[in-house]
Formats: sequence, C-alpha cells, structure tokens
Amino acid sequence: MKSLFRAAKATPQAFSAVRAASTKACVLDKIGDINMRDIDISEPFTSRDVRIDIKSVGICGSDVHYYQHGSIGPFILNDPMVLGHEASGVVTEVGADVEHLKVGDRVCMEPGIPDPHSKWSRSGMYNVDPKVRFWATPPYHQSLLDDPAWANGHGCLRPSVVHPADFTFKIADNISHDVAALVEPLAVGMHSCTKAQIKPGDIAVVVGAGPIGMLTALTALASGCAKVIIADPAQAKLDVCETLASPGKIIGAIVDPSNPDGLRQQVLDATGGDGAEVIIECSGNPHAAAGAAELAAPGGCIVWVGCPTPFPIDLGHQQVRELRTEAVFRYAHMYPKSIALLESGALNIDPIITDHWTFDQSKEAFEYMCNPPDSTIKSIIHVDQ
Ligand SMILES: [Zn+2]
Repeated sequence: MKSLFRAAKATPQAFSAVRAASTKACVLDKIGDINMRDIDISEPFTSRDVRIDIKSVGICGSDVHYYQHGSIGPFILNDPMVLGHEASGVVTEVGADVEHLKVGDRVCMEPGIPDPHSKWSRSGMYNVDPKVRFWATPPYHQSLLDDPAWANGHGCLRPSVVHPADFTFKIADNISHDVAALVEPLAVGMHSCTKAQIKPGDIAVVVGAGPIGMLTALTALASGCAKVIIADPAQAKLDVCETLASPGKIIGAIVDPSNPDGLRQQVLDATGGDGAEVIIECSGNPHAAAGAAELAAPGGCIVWVGCPTPFPIDLGHQQVRELRTEAVFRYAHMYPKSIALLESGALNIDPIITDHWTFDQSKEAFEYMCNPPDSTIKSIIHVDQ
C-alpha cells in the first residue's frame, strides 16, 4: 500500500498489517442521514502510530455542513463517513518508534495528515498539500481514493482511533479534555494571527462571532492587540465574547444587515477615525467580506478565514490603503504553540463550550446544531462517558 509515515521505517518487525475492525461510530450515511451504528474501519498501525481512546469531540461547522449539504467545495460525500475532527483522548498503545508519547498520556490530535514527501510539505505549507488526509473530509485526490485505509475519509466520532504520533500532542493536566478538543479551531485563530503579523498595540476587528471568531479574538489579544472589536448580528454571542477577557479588551459590535455602513462607523469610532490595523474575516458572509477593506487603517492587513460564496469586491478600497491580504486554510505547525498558550493560562475558552452531549446523543446533537439558538456556541460530544 502506498503510504506516508509508514514507508520510511517500515520493517517486518515495525510494520503491522492493516487492522479491519467493526466499531460503533457516528456515521453520516448520506445527506441528512446520520446513524449511530457499527461500521468496518481499516486502519494500519505502524511503528510511528499511536492508538487513542477518544474522550471529547467538538462539533464543527464543517461537520454540520456535510450533514446538511453532503459537500464542501471539491470534497463530496460519496460513501458513508464517520464525522468529527476536533478531538482529545488518552493514548492506549504506542508504536515501537514513538519516543514522545506513552500509554496513559492525555493528548489532542491534529486531524490533517499531509504527505511528508510532497513539495508543499517540504516547504512548510503542509496544510495546502492536496494529498492531506483530513478527518471527516471526503477524499478527492486520486491517491487518497486509491488508499483502502483512507477511501472514506472517516473522522473520529468513534471510541478509538489510530493516528500518527507526529500529529498527536500531549496536553498538561491543567487542560481539560473538552478544551483540548478545541485546540483544532484554536489553531485556525493562531494561524490567522500569525499571518496577520500582529504587533503590540494593534487594534483588530474580527468579523463573525462563531467559535473560530471567538478563538481568533482571544488569540489576537494574546498576540499583543490592545483591543479587539468582534462583529456579529447576534447580541447573545457578543455578550459571551465580552466575558472572555477583562473589560474593554473585547468589544462587541452588533451588525445590522439592513445598515451596511453601521459596522464601519463603529470601527471608526473605536479607533479614533483611523480604522483597525488588522481585519480577520471569519463570517464567510459575502457582504461582510466585501466591506472588510473599509474597516482597515492604511497599511493594514485583511486575513480571509471564512469561506464566502463568490462575491464582487472593490479592490480600490484595498489599493488606496495599501492593504496586505492573507488567506488561511486550516493551519500548519500551530498545535504546539496553541497548547503552550493554553497551558500558560492566557486564553479563557471555557465559556465558548456551551452544550454537552453523550456519544449516544450524537445524532440529536447534530440535529440541534443545524439550527441552534444564538446562545449556543460550541457543542461537545463526550465519546467516553
Ligand atoms: Zn473544525
């Protein structure tokens, strides 16, 4: 079998065969049809892998999107797929060549595994390697479709997974399993703020107060921003945002869809008329994205995080301000720093976790997350109860 981390050290002793096992899992059988059922999953276990009992899994907008629509861009659900990619757990088995983990370690897992030999991986941008295998993402690159161990793109909403040790990270005792599951969306915020090149004293605007927006706002403060303005149409979400940091650090800005200029005025008022140095677009709303440049100070930066449908944009607003723009697709090399920042106590992310479900309630949890109240931010499924 063509493979990645297995090939380098594969020896008769180190390479164990693909294990096919039937496991209970939260399976997206087709659009709108989730079932808690047994499914056969083939997983190699090599000397560079670990086995992990799953503890907590966060429900991500992308999981819900596959449930409702069956696809995201080029990633199209053709076969039943286990959902879930934001996870933490406990190591139960360690490959012979793994040195940094042992049985019993509490860990979180980076869900995207690149081909280490691709030129993009070698350049450091492994997140844009087209051969990345990402949990709960249907494969679209031919090499993945040909790989029996990855043909379905299964995720982690199941009692145990095999994962490369290189993408498995130990967490300290002061981080709960629920918070550790959120290292995945936190890594998006870390990548965004890193690409924004935030400097001490900058003011940032984060557009969109979903989990990614909130985690990005916290990361922007930890990166040195003097304050963060976070914009959303839902007052209940802004109320939560303002509790995440000391008073005045995170300022909620209500967005009124019938008044497109309203947010711009709030940002100008909060920045002495200058605009903000950093704009991080996390809403994916085409109207918000089109207006992002008008929120920025001259010489500022826009980071595109949300995925809007195609929209017209007036580049003149960017040109006259000489704005820099950055695009973000997931993250690379952000788990260790995300965990370090969490362990330092710099990020208060507990209030972002609003809803809890048992493993057996997974289907109900997804139905709930299709149309949640504004007070719901992140749902966690407790796989191991
Ligand atoms: Zn996610």
